[in-house]
Amino acid sequence: MKFKITLLPGDGVGPEVVDAAVALIEAAAEKFHVQFSFSSHLVGGCSYDKSGAPLTDDTLHACYESDAVFLGAVGGTKWEGLPHHLKPEAALLKLRKALGLFTNIRPAKVYSSLLSSSTLKPEILEGTDLVIFRELTGDLYFGEPRGYDEEKGWNTMIYSREEVERIAEAAFKFARTRDNKVTSVDKANVLECSQFWRKIVHEVHKEFPEVELKDMYVDNAAMQMVRNPRQFDVILTQNMFGDILSDIASMITGSLGMLPSASLGSKYALYEPVHGSAPDIAGQNKANPLAAIASAGMMFSHSFQMSKAAELIDESIERTLSKGYRTADIYEEGNNLVSTSQMKDAVLDSFNQIYDEQALGIFTL
Ligand code: NAD
Repeated sequence: MKFKITLLPGDGVGPEVVDAAVALIEAAAEKFHVQFSFSSHLVGGCSYDKSGAPLTDDTLHACYESDAVFLGAVGGTKWEGLPHHLKPEAALLKLRKALGLFTNIRPAKVYSSLLSSSTLKPEILEGTDLVIFRELTGDLYFGEPRGYDEEKGWNTMIYSREEVERIAEAAFKFARTRDNKVTSVDKANVLECSQFWRKIVHEVHKEFPEVELKDMYVDNAAMQMVRNPRQFDVILTQNMFGDILSDIASMITGSLGMLPSASLGSKYALYEPVHGSAPDIAGQNKANPLAAIASAGMMFSHSFQMSKAAELIDESIERTLSKGYRTADIYEEGNNLVSTSQMKDAVLDSFNQIYDEQALGIFTL
């Protein structure tokens, strides 16, 4: 079996963390007897510097031709003064739209060795393993009319039936592979758009009677995530609420450098760490590559249905942390402070070690 992966390392720490993810993808390919062909393309500021556009047709074409897209990060101070449509970040919105990526999946799992790295109390966090399904193509971010004048500013919160149905279905299906629990987060006590969201989510739920569905207002959900995050399994929510709730979730894992993500459509899929290009540490071999490595794990699971490879990558991260390896963002006294490339090597070691321990030579897809 051979899969095509388009790599978009991007700017800042993007290339450094993508390099680490590719090392794990190659290690898994070898153990699980699959072949990957990689093609690397420019996106973001580096693309603008070369061609005057943050996302070129060539890069987009490469994405259309691939089985999965893997992105590092875009942006940086150098390009801040550019007009909006030429900014590196404009490439991301264009890419998501062009690839029809409507589901953004962000897991927030607490690794036991990192319990003390979060600002939240370890006893509150222990055992937390939740996944946010954020709708990515509708809501206030894309609704028309929008604008502002001297006297007022306005945006339109809007969802179509199709938009709600497809993300609700994805969330219920995913919940079936976990604890069978979906919490749909809205603001139906105030907003008609949310009342519509809730109505459609309940209609779709009829096809998934084995999944428990709970509705929660977004203000309560924000409080509950900090009060008792263990109560959540899959959180299904609108674009805007998901944007905010996923940042709350990032504090559960201890660092932005730990959070992976997947953006899925009906045809294409894009994987990326949640963090940005981290210009303050770019080029210094200091970035935490674990979010990128965990995003590679999500790619195995969602795009290639290789759940055993995904589990092995996840266990390798856990094992590496339990050995005490830490990049600067998650470092605490007494740990072993390592660079990006040293962390990559440590995770590769753990990967091979766990594979050997489990005598996985007979693994198939
Ligand atoms: P950022 O995520 O780049 O950095 C925020 C802080 O977290 C910084 O102190 C940084 O050093 C740290 N950090 C981030 N990733 C890290 C990692 N892997 N390891 C260790 N520390 C890490 O966010 P920002 O500073 O607000 O934005 C910088 C640039 O990135 C901006 O141009 C922004 O628009 C862009 N950005 C891009 C994406 C993306 O490509 N998906 C996402 C967010 C921000």
